[in-house]
Amino acid sequence: MYNPKSLKAEEFISDEEILDTLAYADANKDNMELINSILEKARERKGLSHREASVLLACEDEEKVQEMYALAEQIKKDFYGNRIVMFAPLYLSNYCINGCVYCPYHIKNKHIARKKLTQEEIVKEVTALQDMGHKRLALEAGEDPKNNPIEYILECIKTIYSIKHKNGAIRRVNVNIAATTVEEYRMLKEAGIGTYILFQETYNKKSYEELHPYGPKSNYAYHTEAMDRAMEGGIDDVGLGVLFGLELYRYEFAGLLMHAEHLEAVHGVGPHTISVPRLKRADDIDPDTFDNGIDDETFAKICALIRISVPYTGMIISTRESQAVREKVIKLGVSQISGASRTSVGGYCEEEPEEENSEQFDVSDKRTLDEVVKWLMEMGYIPSFCTACYREGRTGDRFMSLCKSGQIQNCCHPNALMTLKEYLMDYASEDTKAIGEALIEAELNNIPKEKVREICKENLAKIEEGIRDFRF
Ligand code: SAM
Repeated sequence: MYNPKSLKAEEFISDEEILDTLAYADANKDNMELINSILEKARERKGLSHREASVLLACEDEEKVQEMYALAEQIKKDFYGNRIVMFAPLYLSNYCINGCVYCPYHIKNKHIARKKLTQEEIVKEVTALQDMGHKRLALEAGEDPKNNPIEYILECIKTIYSIKHKNGAIRRVNVNIAATTVEEYRMLKEAGIGTYILFQETYNKKSYEELHPYGPKSNYAYHTEAMDRAMEGGIDDVGLGVLFGLELYRYEFAGLLMHAEHLEAVHGVGPHTISVPRLKRADDIDPDTFDNGIDDETFAKICALIRISVPYTGMIISTRESQAVREKVIKLGVSQISGASRTSVGGYCEEEPEEENSEQFDVSDKRTLDEVVKWLMEMGYIPSFCTACYREGRTGDRFMSLCKSGQIQNCCHPNALMTLKEYLMDYASEDTKAIGEALIEAELNNIPKEKVREICKENLAKIEEGIRDFRF
């Protein structure tokens, strides 16, 4: 029944294979010989299978867990250096006809304020985001063919790309909307989206059906096979994720890796990113009523093992997590974070009055983008606003081969420094700017090729003079 190359959800995410994997992991969680051999394989930096990774997840030996963390940290450094890509979500509409029991946008919630941005409101929201310094957005919307049809989403994307305010520009629009048809994915591709993101929520079919009792999202196979349709429609950067807290985390972890293996087996390229959201309190949602919440330590272990298992896949963490948790998992493998996020429709322009709440969930990290940028730099990271890969067509397997050849340090590193420089010149507070300038100066030395280093220096000088015509 289990077949990673099949296009049928129940075959590439086979429940039987997951249960066998969990039993195998349980049986071997103290098998030090096997665990050492898996860690040895992981050190080759070519990833691990869902079975191997599941054994490491089950292993509770403190010394081995610390070894996993150290390896994750090292792989993170080798593949991503000290760059952290920045983005913000933009909620377009919270109209939704689904029944997701964990999401306050479900159709039966009659007291949440329903909102949908007009194109004029989008201009205001995006201008506010540009004024913070954001260059990369993730669009979010509920599923509602009447209120948020694909034409509406496409119009929003067009508007967003057209807004040029001062030195601002949104250079990459990622999209997180409900599973759709090949034809609509093709339209999104033509509209110039970056990554198509869709969280699986849970890989367990039975739980999935209970958690999505009605609406188009209740179809497990249609949802699970969405990434194959997206790729068929020409989108080659796709972002996976599960909502931790809904099902047993070990089941989800195995499912997530099986999904990644499936994409690699069928399309020759794995997921561009994996997101690791955890269930949060929201309008009429109490996370305590769900049985499968995970503590911070387990969460960190999952992040570290994703890093080890799929070294070439970026990992995203949102403001659902606190500063402290973000700090921990950035070290262990996260490569992209959001900053200053609002999860309400229209939230970047105005504070919502209490009775007009349209928020999807509570955020834990409420700092401004300037504070987040400063915090990252104080820890030695380079906040990157770069979107060059996508703009230069380095997506899908072309991005992966760049990553695998180790050329990223000559490419992403200078771009990160230049986009950080733009940020510092255009948006940063004096404090943040001072820290950033010193960091850029020091980091220039980490560009291996002398010629690239020289070009980077020239471009930094141009940015200083106010020139902004680079293709990041
Ligand atoms: N409506 C689209 C869909 O069905 O995939 C997309 C986007 S939804 C705005 C983004 C994600 O937020 C969902 O996929 C879900 O994982 C997450 N989410 C929903 N309710 C949440 C909650 N209470 N806490 C944390 N994340 C939540």
